[in-house]
Amino acid sequence: MTSPTPQDLDTLNDIVGEKGLIRPGGHGGDDLVPYETCVRYGSGQAAFVVRPATSKEVSRVLAYCHGRGITLVPQSGNSGLVGASTPDGSGTQGVLSFDRLTGTSESDATTYGQILFDEENRTVTVGAGVRLSDLNAFLEPKGYVFPIDLGADPRIGGMIATNTGGARFLRYGDVRQNTLGVKVVLADEAGTELNFMSGLRKDNTGIDWKHLFIGTTGVLGVITEAVLNVVRLPQQSTAALLVPRDEAAVLKLLLEMEERCDTNLTAFEGMSAEAIRAAFDHVPSLRNPFPGGEIPNYVLLVELSRTWAKRDSEQSLDELMEVVLAEIWEDEDAPLDNAFIGRPEEMWALRHALSEGVKHAGKLVAFDVSFRRGDLMKFRAFMAKELPEKFPNVRICDFGHVGDGGLHFNLSIPQDDPRLDDENFIPSLREWVVQIVVEKYNGSFSAEHAIGRSNQGFYDSYTPKKVKELAAQIKNVLSPGNLGDVKLG
Ligand SMILES: Cc1cc2nc3c(=O)[nH]c(=O)nc-3n(C[C@H](O)[C@H](O)[C@H](O)COP(=O)(O)OP(=O)(O)OC[C@H]3O[C@@H](n4cnc5c(N)ncnc54)[C@H](O)[C@@H]3O)c2cc1C
Repeated sequence: MTSPTPQDLDTLNDIVGEKGLIRPGGHGGDDLVPYETCVRYGSGQAAFVVRPATSKEVSRVLAYCHGRGITLVPQSGNSGLVGASTPDGSGTQGVLSFDRLTGTSESDATTYGQILFDEENRTVTVGAGVRLSDLNAFLEPKGYVFPIDLGADPRIGGMIATNTGGARFLRYGDVRQNTLGVKVVLADEAGTELNFMSGLRKDNTGIDWKHLFIGTTGVLGVITEAVLNVVRLPQQSTAALLVPRDEAAVLKLLLEMEERCDTNLTAFEGMSAEAIRAAFDHVPSLRNPFPGGEIPNYVLLVELSRTWAKRDSEQSLDELMEVVLAEIWEDEDAPLDNAFIGRPEEMWALRHALSEGVKHAGKLVAFDVSFRRGDLMKFRAFMAKELPEKFPNVRICDFGHVGDGGLHFNLSIPQDDPRLDDENFIPSLREWVVQIVVEKYNGSFSAEHAIGRSNQGFYDSYTPKKVKELAAQIKNVLSPGNLGDVKLG
């Protein structure tokens, strides 16, 4: 690892210009702070922040830093939750920010800076630094949306590098399923640019290279542009909060909703009472929809949507929801205890407030895990029984994407708990939970947040030796230079 010298910074400045480089200490030194600060899991100290505006500039920056042995940490929206997008504390790593790379090089310079929309192909071509909210603001008037929905506002490069999932995975899949092309730059001598931007929906002419860069946290190369699938913006939607009869009834409800609603079902999200309570405490403006304000033990947010406007002869989605719930209720062994139909925006506001809410409910120990769908509620039941025995006074305040087997299994510890003074306490709690996820339930210790400092140890423990050796070889061939701290091999 090389500490960048003032001459290195001057050279980077020559490549990206004044606007593209933030130096520590000097003019605008405080501007480094947002790039050094993580949403979760600690922050670091940057030697500099370099902000190229084009893929060509990225290439020159990577070639130079590779030659000088300088580590670059790719950073897009910096909303990642595993501590992978910020530098370590050494002060020797530079941040490679994509916040100025909002254009594409698809056309000539006059269209640089534009999102290119191809309605016939139903795709957009975007720079890696485009924010999800900006992309959707561009698409909305055209009647389209990029269908990855989450409570943060990341940038496209980071979404591809982490393969973001989100709340509508059940219907639209993850970023991988909606990425039709990428342009990448390798951390090698030449800063090689590779163009996999065909935007083809079908192409089986050898290795599908783009997949190597999706979900691998920027270790193998950085994404500078992408071609994304977009879908029709829903024209009708309805949502309900369902209270399952008991935990075992959750899966039955999911299967029944899928059978009766098929592709109209766009979300099936689970929320524990503890997580809901934390959201209400943190965001007082949220409306409590439960009678008497009494929050049920477990609540499902179910959404139906359609991409066309309602026709006169057609049953509305509100009616469909009512009919379906009535049918389920009529069942002798009804899995449903209660249901509330209301304004979808209010329900989603509650759902999206959970993440921030649980952050303020005590010392948060968060897990982003996944299971085969049938195991998710079994894992919850196991934890509800075993956790208090093994780690008393630790509250479970989980929520998750039950429809796709994803669970944000959050644990909350009172801030004044003396066990927090013991540096082994949280690591042993985390190890125990992950061991149950992986060894007892064959689940994943990183469902949709990818790998970072916070879960590198689990990657090291649970990835087979041969797989790590292969990953190291691939890394060495593609991008031998230092990109971030994650080690896949
Ligand atoms: C409130 C909240 C809710 C969230 N909900 C969800 C959710 O429902 N589902 C979900 O999947 N995630 C969720 N996340 C996590 C996070 O938003 C996603 O991981 C996100 O897509 C990361 O994108 P980003 O632009 O912020 O990337 P960053 O955080 O900047 O970077 C993430 C990783 O990608 C690498 N990287 C960044 N840009 C590039 C690039 N151009 N090329 C190569 N590598 C790059 C970084 O080095 C890092 O390893 C949530 C986060 C918050 C704060």
